[in-house]
Amino acid sequence: TRRSIASVNPYNDEVLAEFPAMTDEEAGRAVAAAHQAFQEWRSLAPAERAAVVGRAASLMRERREELARTVTLEMGKLIGESRGEADLSADILSYYAEHGPAFLADRPLPVEEGNAVVANRPLGALLGIMPWNYPLYQVARFAAPNLVAGNTILLKHASNCPQSALALERLFHDAGAPPGVYVNLFLPSARVGTVIDDPLIQGVSLTGSDRAGAGAAERAGRNIEKTVLELGGSDPFIVLDTEDFDRTVEAAAVGRLSNMGQSCVSAKRMILLPHVYRRFVEELRRRFEALVPGDPLDPDTTLGPLSSEQAAANLVSQVRDTVAQGATLVTGGDRIGRPGAFVQPTILTDVRPGMRAYREELFGPVAVIYQVADENEAVALANDTPYGLGGAVFCRDLDRARRVAERLDAGMVWINHPTSSHPALPFGGIKCSGYGRELADLGIEEFVNKKLIRTF
Ligand code: NDP
Repeated sequence: TRRSIASVNPYNDEVLAEFPAMTDEEAGRAVAAAHQAFQEWRSLAPAERAAVVGRAASLMRERREELARTVTLEMGKLIGESRGEADLSADILSYYAEHGPAFLADRPLPVEEGNAVVANRPLGALLGIMPWNYPLYQVARFAAPNLVAGNTILLKHASNCPQSALALERLFHDAGAPPGVYVNLFLPSARVGTVIDDPLIQGVSLTGSDRAGAGAAERAGRNIEKTVLELGGSDPFIVLDTEDFDRTVEAAAVGRLSNMGQSCVSAKRMILLPHVYRRFVEELRRRFEALVPGDPLDPDTTLGPLSSEQAAANLVSQVRDTVAQGATLVTGGDRIGRPGAFVQPTILTDVRPGMRAYREELFGPVAVIYQVADENEAVALANDTPYGLGGAVFCRDLDRARRVAERLDAGMVWINHPTSSHPALPFGGIKCSGYGRELADLGIEEFVNKKLIRTF
């Protein structure tokens, strides 16, 4: 059966475009085309492939405005943030165009006789399964390193951002990627399994919820296909002192509210020592209540909609259940009385183990603030989560901050700055946040054959 993939503006529920899902036969032909294209693509020099990715970076800069607008219309991101996402994505493409070939260079190994090298060789056609929260960035950080490495790409984007998906396919095509090197797949998630089962697929990278990650990895495991998973997070944001109070509160607000809180590395759990607590809650409340709802295309809007009606309804039910379980609602907690997927910026305190907000990922503008007695309690609480993606520690005393950072079970810890992303820094987590790393040199090593050539 053909099910439609739809672009719906979450600001006003307007259906912008609908696309038929591919049939299994069409998807199978797309996989065959990517496999076919791999035979030529792998034989190019890395510098030739890097040139294509470099042109994609230039096109992304040229098309910045149109791409940003598409992202905002499709998933509700504030227009300024959509432009920022296009810039970061172009930087990632440029980064791998510039450094990718050197990262792939042969590595000679010391041997007593003859010589030995480890060569980084591509694996083949890869499946990328990407989410809607950063429609350009998520694709850039998967596609850029893998295209330079010589793999070819099938991209199954989230069903609610098909226009972004098409714009990206066009971008790589216009940059000179030969047919089959980057192929968009319009498929609902329920039918992705048949693509994973295709023996021509050599690896799967998924960014999204832990449920989606587990489903895709289980299927890939049956087929002995390598996976990289970048899943949810419930990052701690630990404040140990107030020496730079305004900057710290500002960082907390940015850390929690950027992308309307729909980021895997949002500062979802704020953990404060007693002397900081009261003032911090008050100041954060003031900032949350000052946000102005409106059209995300309007640069004056500071509170946009969530990505979909379902996302908004789900978030509010998580908050309601947590309050019913005994948590304190400091501000917010409900939908905003207007059309669109708006949720009030919300602060919860007195959240305890057993409540929904204690363990679940809250994907929207909801801050949970905890008070702890000391540094040890802060670390214990920070680590008491199924997730292990990022984290932030705020403290003027850098030795103390690093000591705490050392004890956090997380893939990334930022000190005196909200967790963020940069092309040259590895990104990824542990525990239910997934495995593998994207970006930096590590990001190009996930889907390569580390091939030994031993010569006598
Ligand atoms: P999902 O994780 O369901 O979707 C992400 C991507 O995975 C989409 O392309 C989706 O396709 C696909 N997918 C979903 N299930 C499967 C599966 N079993 N096998 C293969 N692919 C699958 O995100 P949702 O939009 O449903 O969001 C739910 C929650 O997930 C959020 O509230 C948030 O907590 C978390 N999330 C975390 C993200 C992060 O960056 N860490 C990003 C997005 C979501 P399709 O759209 O067709 O269903």
